[in-house]
Amino acid sequence: SSAVRRHMERLAAEGVDVVRVTYPDLIGTERARDVLLDELPSACEHGLAFCRAVYHTTPRGGTVPVPGGLDAGLPDVRVLPDLRTLTALPWEPGVAGCLGDVTDPATGLPAPESPRDLLRAVSARCAQHGLRPVIGPELEYFLCEAAPGGAGGWRRYSDTDGAVYTAGLRGDPDNHLLRTLRGLRDLDLGVSSGNHEFDGGQFEINLTHSDALAAADRAFRFKAAVKELARKEGRLATFMAKPFNEAGGSGFHLHLSCVDEAGGNAFADPAAPHGLSATARHAVAGVLAHAPALAALANPTVNSYKRFGPDTLAPWLVDWGLDNRSAMVRVPPERGAGTRIESRLGDASANPYLLVAGTVAAALLGVLAGAEPPAPLEGYGYDAGRSAVLPATLPAALDALEADTELTEVLGKDFTTAYLAYKRDEVARFHRHVTDWEFSEYAEHL
Ligand code: GLU
Ligand code: MG
Ligand code: MG
Repeated sequence: SSAVRRHMERLAAEGVDVVRVTYPDLIGTERARDVLLDELPSACEHGLAFCRAVYHTTPRGGTVPVPGGLDAGLPDVRVLPDLRTLTALPWEPGVAGCLGDVTDPATGLPAPESPRDLLRAVSARCAQHGLRPVIGPELEYFLCEAAPGGAGGWRRYSDTDGAVYTAGLRGDPDNHLLRTLRGLRDLDLGVSSGNHEFDGGQFEINLTHSDALAAADRAFRFKAAVKELARKEGRLATFMAKPFNEAGGSGFHLHLSCVDEAGGNAFADPAAPHGLSATARHAVAGVLAHAPALAALANPTVNSYKRFGPDTLAPWLVDWGLDNRSAMVRVPPERGAGTRIESRLGDASANPYLLVAGTVAAALLGVLAGAEPPAPLEGYGYDAGRSAVLPATLPAALDALEADTELTEVLGKDFTTAYLAYKRDEVARFHRHVTDWEFSEYAEHL
């Protein structure tokens, strides 16, 4: 079409000769195919064929029998480039990145396990009720350096724990953060600022707020870009939830508000208690009510549950508070147009699309039910017995997701079936694997 031609002319003028089409698979891994620029019209017309079972390949290469995959004889999915997302990749001269959408070739419709389409569907549900969610992502990660004998051959970039929160220079001896911020600027990801986090080698970078799909796209590309930039320096940036025993975990906090039909912030009401509208209270109640199921998406690995706990700044109990970082849902102090809630549940390993879709769906369910949250937490929130405890393991969260029929109705049966199959296989593989901890705990003493 003429639109594709216009994009091609612009890219050629910028010196681009290859388009890297990437898409998030079910668990958020970036899948990619490089397409010569001349082949772009064909890719846009017919889609790029990928094996559907590979769409569910585990990070380390196994395959999982999910519906329409292995059981159907390894058929294709087609990935259609979304040309609105074309962006030159600063670290790969001559290459432009482009996100793709996963479709079923038999129907031409979005594949039910496509995370981008899941999020579109949840946003469309909100629109039916006159609400447009606005999302601001915050991601933490650890930078690692090669170290023979370290975990997987890596150790933390610095070990100046505790003294380095927002104190860049001491914990960042060769300006990793500065280089990363500058490297990300040209990608149009809405990167606004970054700081050193609490633990040595740990950083946080904030992205500005936008519509839900654009925010998830930016968070997905952000994670890939930070990893690429670190790899160019021979380093590893990891978004694992809790990569080190001796350090805290990495969060993926989501700031959420909603625009109403009049274009105003549906969470703001200066006349209501705390300046929070009824819609905001219901949204908080929805996120709290569905938190155990939501954890299956927000905290998607067996490792994720090691981040939770008292005195971590990560959540442990299902609670909320006004500008209170010890609560799972914090209401930041800004009011008026900036009125929003911050869910601190998610960890950095979450697939951004599933985290956003699940959080928005939970908030919407609270709004539709007119649910009221308990009184906000006062003071320090980690005292046992104050509120329900989050699931302690991934299997418990998966069971909670399966049992939460309100949430799975919004997410869709096909998505839920595929996700539970994938994640339960991951749990089974973990339980079959003998870990270092078992050897040191048992080998000599029993
Ligand atoms: N690292 C903490 C978490 O896992 C968050 C620390 C902070 O408040 O920035 O959620
Ligand atoms: Mg932080
Ligand atoms: Mg935060």
